Amino acid sequence: VVRSQLQFTEYWQGRTGLSIGLREVLYSETSAFQRVEVFETDILGRALALDGAVMFTEFDEFVYHEMIAHPALSLLHDARRVLIIGGGDGGAAREALRHPDIETLDLVDIDEMVAEVARRFFPNVSSSLSDPRLALHIQDGRAFVEEAKGDYDLIVVDSTDPFGVAEALFSRGFYESCRRLLAPKGILVAQSESPFDPSQRDVVEKVSRSFREIFPIAATYLAFIPTYATGMWSFTLASKRLHPLRDYDGEGAGKRLKGFGLKYYNPEIHRAAFALPTFVRHLISDPGDEGYA
Ligand code: SAM
Repeated sequence: VVRSQLQFTEYWQGRTGLSIGLREVLYSETSAFQRVEVFETDILGRALALDGAVMFTEFDEFVYHEMIAHPALSLLHDARRVLIIGGGDGGAAREALRHPDIETLDLVDIDEMVAEVARRFFPNVSSSLSDPRLALHIQDGRAFVEEAKGDYDLIVVDSTDPFGVAEALFSRGFYESCRRLLAPKGILVAQSESPFDPSQRDVVEKVSRSFREIFPIAATYLAFIPTYATGMWSFTLASKRLHPLRDYDGEGAGKRLKGFGLKYYNPEIHRAAFALPTFVRHLISDPGDEGYA
């Protein structure tokens, strides 16, 4: 194939999507669970795709991985035990383990191939897989939380989209199991798809509703990820006790984050991320806006 013709397109819906020029396909295998591909792209560095969906690119992975980990860890500021479901590439774990107080991090991914590929092609994303505080469990996350002992200060659900094996990670039963595993001040964070993506916006609403039914405090927040469907991405945070804005000490967080070398998250972004466009508020139909300051 002529080099200039190599393209990878992630379709959002029908014939519409994001098309990325490729220099080379570095890896393409099918594991027991999904197709795993690694691309050398023209301008975005290397990219990982699972079942035809971009998981991350070197160009913008820092946004997603900083924003799935630091809002909750800055709110907690003394988290000791962390559980990450999915995220076998190690990106979310890399960000969490920047916090020196963390003593143990359980990383549970169903597909060993993801960790292997991350180690081989994405040394910067997977660096934490060799951190002595990290224990990698190759297992279904739903089964893990049903058998695990508490109590975690933070549980992160860094899953693929809610299809196939990942569907179980969006179920109410799974979230209730996570709640049982959380310490009294514990926080649950899940990536919750895009409010702009016609085929995924119901997930934003469903996760928000489940979290609000199961936890006293829940809030949706946003980040801008150019290589994800539509570029607007949501995360949903739930807590038994800490409100993401009212209980947030931005000044203290700013001091603790010094030296982390973050490129997206900061105390101002923390507050801004929870400010939602009106259409997103309507989408999650949060009556009292109690999830927001
Ligand atoms: N961290 C990346 C990012 O920047 O978005 C992508 C997320 S990570 C690659 C998604 C992971 O969820 C995949 O590695 C997949 O194997 C894992 N996964 C899907 N279903 C799962 C399940 N039921 N239990 C555990 N891991 C699961």
